[in-house]
Amino acid sequence: MLKHSLLQEFLFEICPRYSLPQKYNLFSVFASFKAFFSSKSCTFAAVMANTDTQSNAPNVFAGPCSVESEEQILATARALSQIPEVKLLRGGIWKPRTRPEAFEGRGEQGLVWLREAKRETGLPIATEVAIPEHIELALKYDVDAFWIGARTVVNPFSVQQLADALSGTDIPVFIKNPVSPDLKLWMGAFERFQKAGLSKLTAVHRGFAHYKESPYRNFPMWEIPIELKRLMDVPVVTDISHICGNRELLQSTSQKALDLAMDGLMIECHINPDAALTDAKQQITPDELKQLLSNLTFRSKQTGRVERDLAGFRSEIDDIDSELLQLLARRMEVSTQIGEYKKDHNVTVVQMDRWKKILDDHIAAGERMGLSPILINKVFEAIHQASIERQTRVMEN
Ligand code: PEP
Ligand code: MN
Repeated sequence: MLKHSLLQEFLFEICPRYSLPQKYNLFSVFASFKAFFSSKSCTFAAVMANTDTQSNAPNVFAGPCSVESEEQILATARALSQIPEVKLLRGGIWKPRTRPEAFEGRGEQGLVWLREAKRETGLPIATEVAIPEHIELALKYDVDAFWIGARTVVNPFSVQQLADALSGTDIPVFIKNPVSPDLKLWMGAFERFQKAGLSKLTAVHRGFAHYKESPYRNFPMWEIPIELKRLMDVPVVTDISHICGNRELLQSTSQKALDLAMDGLMIECHINPDAALTDAKQQITPDELKQLLSNLTFRSKQTGRVERDLAGFRSEIDDIDSELLQLLARRMEVSTQIGEYKKDHNVTVVQMDRWKKILDDHIAAGERMGLSPILINKVFEAIHQASIERQTRVMEN
């Protein structure tokens, strides 16, 4: 196989002199050679792509949040390789951290250990890549699949650079949802890789940053991956670790993912989770993973699909209802302030003209939106009544 330095010479010396097209950049050529010379392929993506697998057991993508040391990754990988559902070993090499002083990954040294874990256990390996240089290095160390992190997927420039760097290969790529609940942005990332010729693409649902109070680290908003599946027909792996952010919610969230007919689970596992350098609170041991899997009820994908479709709608309804409640609370708060004003200025609580106008306007607006006048009448009568009660209480105090 061509030596990396020869390739570099070809790319950096010869390409610029003969103005070879930009697509023949270091990474795509290097990756093409890798793809050509390597006979190994990652079976996980193939399994993922086949949503009609006979077994209902989930495919699991497991491993530590970060590769920290040779002992840590080898011990974790050895234990994981004994769990039949585990099809792919993950290990973060470059870690996107909120604060720069946090542990940012072992870099190239970590790849040496990750490759050793693959050699010893036979598990294919995957890591997160955020810039083309990561791809180049990871390919050099026989990484079988990549995932694109949530912070990278938000930036179309970055996604395009990665897609360009991988053009000419068909390495499996797992695309996490962007941090923000933006389905189009997630779909855009798929389209960029598809246009670059990559076909083994899998979505990773890791939840979304959200302003509402929530027991989750990242709010799941299940309706978004469900809609992605409907529109793009791609397999979806649920990254329960980054959704939950703690160990307690992992069991129920993995069951939920299976009930919604998701195609696999990503779970962070560490041989000694409490000592983990990143995401310690959400990691579990391989033994705990075994236990978690044995407590799951595997469902047939067919009935799961009905459940999944309904659950998507239900989850959307829950979100809308929660917004309605917040709006009602805000409206009542404003009513209280109006009551205080009326009290200070000696104005009656009910102003009939204003109330009639509000109701007429809302009925007309509702009709334009396809809502029945009876419904609007009932809803606003109730709201108005509650508002009068509020203001009366203010007057009486
Ligand atoms: C990770 O998988 O370790 C990670 C950093 O995930 P995300 O991009 O979902 O935050
Ligand atoms: Mn993590």
